[in-house]
Amino acid sequence: MAAALLLCGLLSAQVRNEIRVPDIPGYMTLKGDMHIHTVFSDGSVWPTTRVDECVMDGVDVLCMTDHVDSRLHKYIKDGTLNPDKVNRNTAYEMAAKYAKGKGVIVVRGGEISSQIMPPGHLNVLFTTDNEPIGAAMDAAGRDHQPAGADAALKVAKSQGAFVTWNHPHWCRQAPNVTRIYPEHLQYIKDGVINAIEAYNWWDGLFSDINTKAGELRPVTLIFARERNEKGVREALEAHRTAIFAESNVYGKEELLTALLTACVEVEKVSKSKTKLTVELYNNSSIPVLLDKAPGSEQWQIARHVVLHPFEHQTLTLYRMDNTKPLEASDFDFHYTVSNFWTEPDVNLHWVLSIHK
Ligand SMILES: [Zn+2]
Repeated sequence: MAAALLLCGLLSAQVRNEIRVPDIPGYMTLKGDMHIHTVFSDGSVWPTTRVDECVMDGVDVLCMTDHVDSRLHKYIKDGTLNPDKVNRNTAYEMAAKYAKGKGVIVVRGGEISSQIMPPGHLNVLFTTDNEPIGAAMDAAGRDHQPAGADAALKVAKSQGAFVTWNHPHWCRQAPNVTRIYPEHLQYIKDGVINAIEAYNWWDGLFSDINTKAGELRPVTLIFARERNEKGVREALEAHRTAIFAESNVYGKEELLTALLTACVEVEKVSKSKTKLTVELYNNSSIPVLLDKAPGSEQWQIARHVVLHPFEHQTLTLYRMDNTKPLEASDFDFHYTVSNFWTEPDVNLHWVLSIHK
C-alpha cells in the first residue's frame, strides 16, 4: 500500500504537458527551446533536468545556451562545481549524453551577455567549443563589454555559429522603447546576426520557467526537412520558423496558413437545402480563434468560433436565401484568425474550404 501511494505521488508530480503540433506539407514541425540556462550559469537546474523537461513538454530541440562569460558560473565560483572538471562545454555535454535515445536534439550554444546595449545579449548556436568564446569575452574585461561581445562573436562565427539577438525588449536594457541600433543593423548586414529572439518568457529569464497549471511553455516551431541538428539549422537559415507562446502563434503568412490547415481537420460535412453542418477537429495543442470575415454572405454564420485543442466543434451554417444557386466559392468560408499574427497588429486571413 505504501509503495502504491508513493507511486501515485511521483506520478502527480510529473504531469505531462506535451505540446503537440502536426507536420505541414513537406516539413515536420519540431518544437524548440532556443534559449535555456542551467546551474552552469544563472539557471537553477541541472542540464539533465532540462532534457527531462523537454521530454515532458514534447520539446524536440534543446539549445544549451548558458552564459559563456565565467563570472556568471556562480557554482564554479563558490566551489560547488570543480573548475578542473567542468568548463563552458560541460552543460551541453551532460545534456547531449543524457538525451541519447530520448528523442531530444541537443544543440551546443552559449549566450554572450554584454551589460551594455548595444549589442546587449546574443546567443551563439551550433558552436563547436565554448571555451575560446568565453575566454575572448573575459579577456576584454567587465568594463569593455561591447568589445568583449564583439571578440566573442568573432570566435563563435569562426566556428560557424548561428547568432540570435536576444530579448531586445528586456526592460533593463530597453527601459522605454524597443529599438534596433546601428550596431545591430551592421551586424545583420555583415551576416553576424542571423535572427532576433522575438519572444522571451519573462519568468524564465533569470530563474527557471514557472509554468502555471495547464499553461504550455513557449516554443519556436521549426519546420524541418529532417529530424536532426542539420535539419534544424537548415530550417533556421531558411527562416522556416514560427513562435507559439501564450496561446498565440507568430510567423510568416504561408507558414501559418499551412500550419492552421494542418491543425484544423474537416471531419464530416452534411448538406441540406437550408443548412450546412461542418464537423471540425482541432488536432493540435494550439487554440484557434476564428472571427467571421467578409466573403460568406450566402450563409448565416457564427461571428466567433473557438476551436479548443483536441476538441471537436460543429458549425451549423444556414442559407440566407434558398432560392439563390450556390457557387463553388460559396463553400469557402473566410475568417480572421485572431490569435495568429503575421505582422504586428495583422491577423492571419484564413479560408476554410468545404468542398466535400
Ligand atoms: Zn540574456
